[in-house]
Parts: sequence; C-alpha cells; structure tokens
Amino acid sequence: MTQRVAVIGAGPSGLAQLRAFQSAARKGAEIPEVVCFEKQSNWGGLWNYTWRTGTDEHGEPVHGSMYRYLWTNGPKEGLEFADYPFEEHFGKQIASYPPRAVMFDYIEGRVKKAGVRDWIRFNSVVRWIEYDEEAQDFTVTVHDMTRDHVYKERFDHVIVASGHFSSPNVPEYPGFDQFYGRITHAHDFRDAREFSGQDVLVVGASYSAEDIGSQCWKYGAKSVTSCYRSAPMGFAWPDNWEEKPALVRVEGKTAFFTDGSSKTIDAIILCTGYRHYFPFLPDDLRLKTKNRLAAADLYKGVVYVDNPRMFYLGMQDQWFTFNMFDAQAWYVRDIIMNRIAVPADRQALMADVAEREAREEASDDVKYAIKYQGDYVKELIADTDYPSFDVDGACEAFFEWKHHKVDDIMGFRNHSYRSVITGTMAPPHHTPWKDALDDSMEAYLRN
Ligand SMILES: Cc1cc2nc3c(=O)[nH]c(=O)nc-3n(C[C@H](O)[C@H](O)[C@H](O)COP(=O)(O)OP(=O)(O)OC[C@H]3O[C@@H](n4cnc5c(N)ncnc54)[C@H](O)[C@@H]3O)c2cc1C
Repeated sequence: MTQRVAVIGAGPSGLAQLRAFQSAARKGAEIPEVVCFEKQSNWGGLWNYTWRTGTDEHGEPVHGSMYRYLWTNGPKEGLEFADYPFEEHFGKQIASYPPRAVMFDYIEGRVKKAGVRDWIRFNSVVRWIEYDEEAQDFTVTVHDMTRDHVYKERFDHVIVASGHFSSPNVPEYPGFDQFYGRITHAHDFRDAREFSGQDVLVVGASYSAEDIGSQCWKYGAKSVTSCYRSAPMGFAWPDNWEEKPALVRVEGKTAFFTDGSSKTIDAIILCTGYRHYFPFLPDDLRLKTKNRLAAADLYKGVVYVDNPRMFYLGMQDQWFTFNMFDAQAWYVRDIIMNRIAVPADRQALMADVAEREAREEASDDVKYAIKYQGDYVKELIADTDYPSFDVDGACEAFFEWKHHKVDDIMGFRNHSYRSVITGTMAPPHHTPWKDALDDSMEAYLRN
C-alpha cells in the first residue's frame, strides 16, 4: 500500500519537502502520497505578509511575524535554492538584499514550477496528532476552516514544518500596566511609519531589535533606544540611537535602566524572541528545544529520537535558511523512501545529538557558528541528490556580510555578493537602503 506522509505547514520548510518529493517523482521514482496542511489561505509561511495581528480571519492566532518594508537581513546569496537560482526566476541577476515581496515571489516561483499546489490543503489547522504504537501510524486531527469541519486522517509519517518564529516570548516589566503608550511585541509589529516622530524603546539585542529599530529609524522615529540584558549590539548607530543596559521598570512615560539612567519614551517594542510552540502535539511527540544550532532530540537535526517516523524541519537557529531546509527535506524524503537508513537504536540517535551539541558548544565565535551550519548543510546534501553547491562560498558571503554590518549598519544592504549557484555577481541596488522607502517588487527590480 502507498505510504502516506503528512507535512504540517507550507512555509519555506514545508514547501522544500513538497519539492523534494516532486523532484524524485519527476525522476521516475514512486513516491508516497503527500498531504500538506496549511492554516493560512496561501503558502510562503512567514513570507506571506499579513496586516493582521492577534487573530486571523478564522479566529486562529496569526502566524505572520513579518512587517512592511522588511528586506532580507542577510545576503540572498546565502539562501539561494541550488535547484532554482534567482536568475532563473527573475530572468536576470538581482541585487543582494531583496524586500519581502521579491522573496515571496521567488519562493512561490519554484513551487509553481514544480506544480505541487494541489498537495496542500489551505485554511486547514492541524489540531492534534497521536501515534498508534500497534498500527505504527499517526492520526492527524485537522480543522478545515473553510467548511468548518473537523476530521481525522491516518499517516505513516509526520513532518513538522510549522516554524518557530511565530509564538512570541513576552516578558513583563514593572509599570507596563500603567504605561502611557503602546507596548507591542515584534510579532505584532507591522509598519514602522506608525512610530514616526516618536521616541521608541526597543527591548532586546538580537536580529529583531536590530532590524525593527532600524526600520523605525528609517521611517522617521524621533529617537531609538535599545536595551540589552547581556551585551550591546555594539554597532556604530546613528546619532539618535542609543544603547542602554537592561530595562528595570517604566513609570508613566519614563523607562529606567540598570545603570540608573532613564529615558522618556512614547512606545515600547519587545524584541524578546520566540518560543518553539507546538500546541498540536502530545508529550511523546513534542520537540522541546532552545533556539540553537544543535536542536535537542533531533538525529541529523531532523529525525525525532523518541519516534523516528516523525521529523522536524527548520527547527534550528538559522544562518542558512532555504537551502538548509532543502538539504533537510531531501534527507527526510530519502529516509522515508528507504534510500537512507536510520539507526534502530535510540542510543545511537542520542549519540549523534550529543556530538552535535558538544561541537556547537566548543565555541561561541560567530564565524565558527556559520561554518558549523555550513558543514551541516554539506553533510546532509552529500547523502542525497540535492544539487551540490559551494557551501563554503555561501559562508564567505555571510562573513563579508558581518563585516559590512560592522562598517555601516545602515548601509550594509548596499553591498553585492556573488551567487554560489550561478557564479554571477549581483548588481548594486539602484538606491541606498536608507533612502529606498518603497519596498514593492516593481521598485526593487527597476534598473
Ligand atoms: C521577522 C522575520 C524576519 C526574517 N527574515 C529572514 C531573512 O531575511 N532571511 C531569511 O533567510 N530568513 C529570515 N527569517 C527566518 C524565517 O524563519 C525563514 O526564512 C522561514 O520563513 C522559515 O520557514 P519555515 O517554513 O520553517 O517556517 P514558517 O515560515 O514560519 O512557516 C510555517 C508554516 O506552518 C504553518 N502552520 C503553523 N502551525 C500550523 C498548524 N497547526 N496547522 C497548519 N499549518 C500550520 C504556518 O501558517 C506557516 O505557513 C525571518 C524571520 C522573521 C520572524
């Protein structure tokens, strides 16, 4: 009997999985029946922009965490699909830091070409998954929001690709309940223009803080104050951006910090991270991991050690994204199609996890971390027919990007890099990022 595979989520990871199976089918292999459940009405995951916050049109928590005017925060040369270069999609090489709409178009282009849309059930929220030891299969409970109908189906394998930058981590500080302005989490941030003319406090020192603060600055915030718990971001910020140590409390419109200083502010944006959150999974199937490169309990970063018929994609902290999801998806496909064997012994699976953790913990140097993840991508693609590409070259692009940020945090997106897939150098963008206020695809692709 044909095996049945459930994929949860049609973001870049889930779509990579569909493309992996489709590419095997195209080469003549017999593939399992693949059903992808997607709670949104369209594919693309986080790249499928929504203006909504809180709940969606069905009353479900909004998945989207992306905002208007978002441009990739790393060079596109680090994430390019090896089987679908930017040049193939756009008919020419494009600049290195595309805005969200351009990226969405690119992601969509590959799966349109693959013809896998019919494999996806949209507006379908996975509510619960259970494993039957005896039958060795999973029962997936799905809520079809279009028909308002809940049903169950059985699958031989489950692949969780539901992302982990959607469920916000929201701390509370004394005085928040009395604050005279808006307090929002990065997950609900949509349009930097809302904060123009305001003194904005950004709580956090990671990518969200850096990028949301930069957005607010670019679109006319009066000032940006960011505060950190362990270390400052340390970039050469513009004059109206100040970094402070940890927030202690707010009183009225005043924020107080651990160094005794204070600042009058109009709005607070919490860039305090996300949680791995799987409300549709019972204890025995649910991944519990921190946002790290060696995700807990995943053999080869994808096979769930407590039930090797279950897989997770894209659960690591991410330097590499799309091409790493591809490497994982091709690898998982080949396990399911019996082309790659997984050790039967749980101890062997755990030994693999322990080795990855120890190797990650050996250094906290950024270059080491990038290289670590590059090596992981190489390791997986070596065992599959995913087109091999110059992963070291992609690491080099990331190293350069890091330098460019240190040189000019508001100007790093003006740089160009060479594609590691086609070898073509990206053209410079026609307008410096800080002056390019229109983030539409038409504006970006204009010569
Ligand atoms: C603000 C922001 C900016 C980013 N910028 C970049 C960038 O510039 N470059 C980059 O490479 N990466 C960036 N990322 C990282 C991002 O995680 C990846 O690019 C990518 O979107 C991850 O893909 P994914 O498929 O794993 O998860 P997601 O994109 O989150 O997709 C998961 C999908 O699963 C669906 N889903 C979830 N739960 C259920 C359920 N119960 N039932 C059915 N469907 C469900 C969701 O609706 C969603 O479509 C950014 C992330 C954020 C939050």
